[in-house]
Amino acid sequence: MAVLITDTCINCGACIDECPVEAIVDEDDNPTGEETYYVYADKCVECVGHHDEPACATACPTEGCIVWDAVGDSPEHREDITDEQRANHEPVVE
Ligand code: SF4
Ligand code: SF4
Repeated sequence: MAVLITDTCINCGACIDECPVEAIVDEDDNPTGEETYYVYADKCVECVGHHDEPACATACPTEGCIVWDAVGDSPEHREDITDEQRANHEPVVE
């Protein structure tokens, strides 16, 4: 995983076009069946090399909706985010 969209997502669509690697899909394409947007963790690079912070979280109007998650198969990840922050699913934007 990389960043995770939580169930507070209101399906506003503000994040999807901000993603430089097209890792985000809408509720119709969410493979979990949840009625929320979804980040493919094996595509998400946490915006490393693209932006100073994850662009999806910057664009998201719902406080605390996008959180850090474990790295897993992510092609790139932010080295300055601790395992504890990821394990606690801390919000990307405070
Ligand atoms: S953190 Fe960046 S790469 Fe990952 S889903 Fe959000 S916008 Fe896309
Ligand atoms: S910007 Fe936030 S609330 Fe809107 S669709 Fe994306 S994750 Fe959901």
